[in-house]
Amino acid sequence: MALTVSVIGIGYLGSVHAACMADLGHTVIAVDVDAEKIAALAGGHSPIYEPGLDELLARVLPTGRLTFTTELADAAAADVHFICVGTPQREGEPAADVSAVFAVGEGLAPYLRGDALVVGKSTVPVGTAAALRARMQQRALEGVSVRLAWNPEFLQEGHAITDTVSPNRFVYGVDPRTRDADVALLDEVYAVPLSAGMPRIVTDYATAELVKVAANAFLATKISFINAMSEVCEAAGGDVVALADAIGADERIGRAFLGAGVGFGGGCLPKDIRAFMARAGELGADQALTFLREVDAINFRRRSRMVDLAREELGGSLRDRRVTVLGAAFKPDSDDVRDSPALDVAQACRSAGAKVVVHDPKAVGTARAAHPLLECTEDLEAALRGAEIVLLLTAWRQYRDMDPGWAVTLVETPTVVDGRNALDVGSWRAAGWRYRALGRPTI
Ligand code: NAD
Repeated sequence: MALTVSVIGIGYLGSVHAACMADLGHTVIAVDVDAEKIAALAGGHSPIYEPGLDELLARVLPTGRLTFTTELADAAAADVHFICVGTPQREGEPAADVSAVFAVGEGLAPYLRGDALVVGKSTVPVGTAAALRARMQQRALEGVSVRLAWNPEFLQEGHAITDTVSPNRFVYGVDPRTRDADVALLDEVYAVPLSAGMPRIVTDYATAELVKVAANAFLATKISFINAMSEVCEAAGGDVVALADAIGADERIGRAFLGAGVGFGGGCLPKDIRAFMARAGELGADQALTFLREVDAINFRRRSRMVDLAREELGGSLRDRRVTVLGAAFKPDSDDVRDSPALDVAQACRSAGAKVVVHDPKAVGTARAAHPLLECTEDLEAALRGAEIVLLLTAWRQYRDMDPGWAVTLVETPTVVDGRNALDVGSWRAAGWRYRALGRPTI
């Protein structure tokens, strides 16, 4: 049965969630405090780059099932309210800032109907759901018993639409007092993917909150593990790509997330592992997660190693040298530059005196907003022209498919440092490039 749902917080997660819910047949009221974002989306323009989102908006907007507002009160009619606001790292602290989650919950509470369900999707420290429910109850109308579930989101930017409508699992963290009714309502929301056989795991609030941060901690650890092997390969003269292929062939290990390079970034993994450590500390379980400190440290060392490699290739100094950085987004198929390794390396080269030009096919706008002093362009030819070194830092298909024979005619010195182990070494070398990469032997 089609429901009326509200989606509150229309960022990388919420904009996709809102459009997908409307596509599944629900009536969606999308709410955000950012009036510009709301106006753009209402006009059919996605303020973020996510493959397929503009097309999805073009399909659902004419149905009238997706509307946008800046007023939380407009969400009152919804049967289900999804909280999708940001939970960034607190300024100067590892812990998460969950103030937006509480602001939305408390703001929504007086408008809640007794039969409506509030569903948290934001990634939060364990214990948030229980605290939020209590605070909402204090502000709810007399006679209304607040219903809250936690349904963490596992989407990956770049595949967000598919991940939203066909995730590999749904997790419902529910209150035991209203468990059956809450599960039944969430099952109605996700009736289409559930009918296709998507598994769902029903659990308590704490486990649902922990599932999300545990998954991100595991993925971050896997990336840092291969990057630690990369450091050892560099010291010993081994090849981390062959090593990853060989260990990844063991199905107990798996090849996914064993891409050695400049490491992870974005609006989730870095802040989520830090918030997880901070929360474990508050709970007296800090020892259990001290390894994540090392995971974070390995990740940062890869960025420094990239700058050192560039310096080494340029004869010991970056001062006044023309450096081209390929990629600004933290990963391909996204314009998200939050904690982007590429921009971090670009900024470090600039601080060391280099003349840096950053290219990205989709993230120039977000990169300029984050680093106004960095020179950024969408013109690949202009970015490469005159380069004394090229650093590949985001594995966009455009770079992987680039003809090295064409690129070599543009640069001043044909040296490339492949920070994602994404290029075909043989064809780049055959076209006359000096090829360096993290964790691979120099020839
Ligand atoms: P984001 O910063 O892109 O979006 C957050 C949105 O919330 C913004 O549009 C902001 O204006 C809005 N907002 C803030 N306060 C508000 C309020 N009081 N009322 C209404 N709107 C408000 O963040 P995001 O990447 O979409 O992440 C949202 C949450 O989802 C985070 O907890 C994140 O960890 C989690 N998550 C994100 C992803 C991802 O790939 N981006 C994946 C899974 C989970």
